[in-house]
Amino acid sequence: MSKYIFVTGGVVSSVGKGITVASIGTILKSRQVTVSVQKLDPYLNVDPGTMSPYQHGEVFVTQDGAETDLDLGNYERFIDIELTAESNVTSGQIYSSVIGKERRGDFLGGTIQVVPHVTGEIKERFKKLAQKSEAEVVIIEVGGTVGDIEGQPFLEAIRQMRNDVGRENVLYIHVTFLPYLTSTKELKTKPTQHSVNELRRIGIQPDIIVCRSDYPISEGIRDKISLFCDVQRQAVIPLPTVDTIYEVPMLLEEEGLGQLVVGKLGLKTRKNDLSQWGELVRRIKEPLEPVNIALVGKYVELQDAYFSVREALCHAALYHNRCLNLLWVHSEDLEKDGGDTLLGSAQGIIIPGGFGIRGIEGMVKAATYARNNRVPYLGLCLGMHVMVIEFARYVLKSSEPNSAEFYPSTSYPVIDLLPEQKAVKGKGGTMRLGNYPCQLVPGSHVANAYGESLVYERHRHRYEFNNQFRTLLKEAGMVYGGLSPDGKLVETCELNSHPWMVSCQFHPEFNSRPSHPHPLFRNFIGVAKETLREGAQPSLPLST
Ligand code: GLN
Repeated sequence: MSKYIFVTGGVVSSVGKGITVASIGTILKSRQVTVSVQKLDPYLNVDPGTMSPYQHGEVFVTQDGAETDLDLGNYERFIDIELTAESNVTSGQIYSSVIGKERRGDFLGGTIQVVPHVTGEIKERFKKLAQKSEAEVVIIEVGGTVGDIEGQPFLEAIRQMRNDVGRENVLYIHVTFLPYLTSTKELKTKPTQHSVNELRRIGIQPDIIVCRSDYPISEGIRDKISLFCDVQRQAVIPLPTVDTIYEVPMLLEEEGLGQLVVGKLGLKTRKNDLSQWGELVRRIKEPLEPVNIALVGKYVELQDAYFSVREALCHAALYHNRCLNLLWVHSEDLEKDGGDTLLGSAQGIIIPGGFGIRGIEGMVKAATYARNNRVPYLGLCLGMHVMVIEFARYVLKSSEPNSAEFYPSTSYPVIDLLPEQKAVKGKGGTMRLGNYPCQLVPGSHVANAYGESLVYERHRHRYEFNNQFRTLLKEAGMVYGGLSPDGKLVETCELNSHPWMVSCQFHPEFNSRPSHPHPLFRNFIGVAKETLREGAQPSLPLST
């Protein structure tokens, strides 16, 4: 039977609870304990798929096609596992399932209530993931902060679990924040005390408190939290802000969190080995030559919208002993006169995914710029649509070619709705989602990058390359290096007249890991680092 670690947040949101959860997973995995992870999101959407990136940040897609919270990306990258739809549970899913059962008559005669019906449904989701994953430990992160109205049923459910599966099989970790007062130069513990009180009020006594802070946490502060919040002294774990998120597992381990968790849950102790992780952090912190990459997007004000893209670029840069210097370029700014200067120092241009017409012309300009100036280009999903639109406009000498998403009546719909999408009316969960196979054409940039002939990549889109234009663009120099195995769908495009202008219909960023960067990102940075641009230095002879 699996054991459970429940992680709640206190005081404020955005203090890195997801990274803490991912790091706990890393620490356990380093002791050969098998883990799975689940994120509980208290909002009423069934999934984040229909939310704006400004509301939610990136939508992370699992291999089985679930649209999920971006924290799942951190869990996958840190623990190096592949999660499924069961790892993201929202209030929307819980309520629609309970109401569906009520309509079917499953509760005939009964009054449906938050306790026990809603909490029962939530607990079913915990157990389902435990059974499916067969993990020794399931870590469950409760989204939001303690005290939020919509989080109450989740907290009540995790409280009940203590009696359902036994005290010795459940651990409660509370992640809080210690604010710093400049006038008195001290960290304050009162908000933490209040949030622990709030937890206790509903019957949860945390076993461990992880204290996030922008400043070092003194022994006195630890003693105080231990006393007022009634946790053991060694169970108050300081987590000051660090330079890189990948440092967090090392910090938590140094503070004894791994030993504590193993001890409290009575897990069989095995020797832990975080040496590879330590090596990774050492390399990240080394002073490295930068590689300048321009990310041209429409949501750049909120960098979380491109979380996995940024991480995948970092992994690839590190592989080449470079540090990533990411230039965030708003695609609408490129539409202005002289916008091109924003790309002057870029050694590579990446256009990630997105929806809707706003900023598209700026992205097309970036693609023209990359093609004309032979700057390496990587297009992801929308970035492939943009590359196809740009090349078609160039070949046909017309500004007419477009995607039917942005200009439905264009006479050159080079990107069009997938045939199976034409009849789809609902917007939630109806895109082409999750893993699909892609056959690679020998000799293409993509085949060279992967070194394989068949790969599986994750998708999230409604629109696709329109086959009516395949021959025209091929004859002008576009290479379709990746196709669906039946040859019907174009999955990747590249230009034979350009050093490295490559785009894909899928989202390779979701499959990158710090220790093994994704092949497309790896080769993109590999070519970019050798590209000489304004203000960029040629590589030093010793660097690789
Ligand atoms: N808007 C495009 C589509 O729906 C691209 C989606 C994306 O970039 N993920 O096909």
